[in-house]
Amino acid sequence: MDKLKIAIQKSGRLSEKSLELLRECGIKISKGSQTLKTNSSNFPIEVLFLRDDDIPQYVEQNVADIGILGENEVWEKNRKVETIRKLGFGNCRLSLAIPKDENYTGISYFNNKKVATSYPKILSEFCAENNLYVEIEEISGSVEIAPSIGLAHGIFDIVSTGSTLLMNGLKEVETVTKSEAILIKSENLSHEKQKILEKLLFRIQAVIYSRE
Ligand code: ATP
Ligand code: ZN
Repeated sequence: MDKLKIAIQKSGRLSEKSLELLRECGIKISKGSQTLKTNSSNFPIEVLFLRDDDIPQYVEQNVADIGILGENEVWEKNRKVETIRKLGFGNCRLSLAIPKDENYTGISYFNNKKVATSYPKILSEFCAENNLYVEIEEISGSVEIAPSIGLAHGIFDIVSTGSTLLMNGLKEVETVTKSEAILIKSENLSHEKQKILEKLLFRIQAVIYSRE
C-alpha cells in the first residue's frame, strides 16, 4: 500500500508541536534525535524530518506529499504548493524594528534606509505596496544584531513576545503580517494518497476542535 509522505521540521520551534499533532491524531511515530525519516506503525504515513526552509521545495517536487511549516516560509519561498489549512500553533508576526532611541515617524522612516532580514521577498513586496525605497540586506540568522554592528538601520524579522528585540535594544514599529503553522500539499497527489490525506485531515480537524 502507498504511504503518504509528510515533511515536518527536524529541530526547531515547530518540531514538537508537529509531532504532537500527529500523535494526537492516533498516529504512532518513534523518533530518535538523529532520525531523518520514519514510518508509522499504525497509519500509512512516512515522516521526513527536514529544515523548514526546504519543505516548500520538497513538496513542490513531490519528495514529500504534504508538509507542516510556518506560512512565512511558504510566502518567502514562492513554490507551487497548495495550502490545506491553518494548524493553530507557531503563531508569530513579521515586523519592522529599529533602535529603541530612534524617533519613529511612520513607514516613510524606512525610505532610503538599510533593513536586514531573512525574508527579503516578503519585505520587498511590502516596500513595493507602500512605495518605499529600502535597501534590503539579506542575512540568514541573528538578524537582531544588524543595527548594533552597523550593518543596517533596522530589521524585518519574526517576533512573538518581543523579548529578543528588547534584549538587542530594538523596538517593533510596524507589523507587516502575521503567520502560523499550516499544512501544505503537493499539487499532484495520486488518488490513493489523496484518500490517506482525507483520513488524516478528518483526524486533524477533530484534534483541533477538541483543543478549542
Ligand atoms: P530550521 O533549522 O528548520 O531552518 P529555523 O531556525 O529556520 O529552523 P525556527 O526558529 O525553529 O526556524 O522557527 C520555525 C518557524 O516557527 C518560523 O518560520 C515561524 O513560522 C515560527 N515561529 C513562531 N514563533 C517564532 C519566533 N519567536 N521566532 C522564530 N520563529 C517563530
Ligand atoms: Zn529555517
